[in-house]
Amino acid sequence: MIESATIQNKLDVYSVRQQFPILNREVKGKPLVYLDNAATSQKPQVVIDALVNYYTDYNANVHRGIHTLAEEATMAFERTRDAVQQFINAESREQVIYTRGTTEGINLVSYTWGRQNIKAGDEIIVSTIEHHSNIVPWQILCEEKGAKLRVIPINDKGELLMEEFEKLLNPKTKLVSIVHASNALGTINPVKKIIDAAHKVGALVLIDGAQSTVHLDIDVQEMDCDFFVFSSHKLYGPTGIGILYGKKDLLDAMPPFQGGGEMIKEVTFEKTTYNDLPYKFEAGTPNIADTIALKAALDFVNEIGKEKIRRHEEELLAYATVQLGQIPGLRIIGRAKEKVSVISFVVDSLHPQDIGILLDNRGIAVRTGHHCAEPCMRFFEIPGTVRASFAMYNTKEEIDELVNGLQKAIKMLS
Ligand code: PMP
Repeated sequence: MIESATIQNKLDVYSVRQQFPILNREVKGKPLVYLDNAATSQKPQVVIDALVNYYTDYNANVHRGIHTLAEEATMAFERTRDAVQQFINAESREQVIYTRGTTEGINLVSYTWGRQNIKAGDEIIVSTIEHHSNIVPWQILCEEKGAKLRVIPINDKGELLMEEFEKLLNPKTKLVSIVHASNALGTINPVKKIIDAAHKVGALVLIDGAQSTVHLDIDVQEMDCDFFVFSSHKLYGPTGIGILYGKKDLLDAMPPFQGGGEMIKEVTFEKTTYNDLPYKFEAGTPNIADTIALKAALDFVNEIGKEKIRRHEEELLAYATVQLGQIPGLRIIGRAKEKVSVISFVVDSLHPQDIGILLDNRGIAVRTGHHCAEPCMRFFEIPGTVRASFAMYNTKEEIDELVNGLQKAIKMLS
């Protein structure tokens, strides 16, 4: 009884793999081993079909048309909003704003809420392990306004020093903008604690969910974050579409991001009135096809079940940590207690890029470099790492291939 329940709850990775056509291809004469999922995940057939179907069957602009194709396109486009609302448990669909991705979501908040609310002397807190897209927009804002960017330090496992964070909080803190799961190290940050502490001093919190949304259950209401951003392409969906969630009163009070069609109620040369949420932030013809296909990705993930996927990825991470840990000279960077399925490492004095090239010769795709997290690399005093990141379709055999490929690469380079 227990055994069959366990089997039922286990992800059938081989049947999952069949749904990703790209996994059948070869690279340099070898079967592709795709371990660069934190950069972008591969797309299942249902997502590819959703894109093709839109262009084949009902390509039309959304919202203003009265003809059948426009109505079909609009309905599909708006259905994604409902699916996202459910996926992150937002209070209402109006709080789900379409963006180009995580980067644009953060910039939207910095250019609208930030410019309206940040003044000289205010403080914005980020952490040492942020992606550049959650550093640079705040630096630009701070420079423009005479505000100060403050940084939460980390320990050598890659975990935030929470006592130091609490010391940074003060009445001048207006925003804490923090990554939920680090793309460079895999660290999962204690966002609930961060949010509660920040709210106590009256600061808002933006959560960068680029890496967490694919792995963890996201409940923005329970988290009580003020803003949450993520990208579809790391979640088995297409590139070019992402989501900004915000609390309604904040979004209502924020000025528009870009001006143009769709974001207006009425335009005269004397005065323009802006559209209601979410359209106030969605100027111009949106990315219709990719938005529609995002729903196919969310349905796909929901159907398999996040819990099942997470258990599979945790198994892969644990296995890879043990296997890679046995390679002489290999040092894992980022040993946080709570991690998503990302494993970063360096090997003695070898350059990560040389390792990456030799792995690619064996069909193994990993990422090498600073992972757009230079301050984090600087903390560890390394130019970059080799990073393997796992998705629902990866297998232990692929990790064996990685270990094997690494051992050969190390021999060649040493
Ligand atoms: N934050 C994190 C943690 C990320 O991993 C990424 C993508 N690597 C981003 C932000 C930026 O996402 P995008 O490029 O999709 O806008």
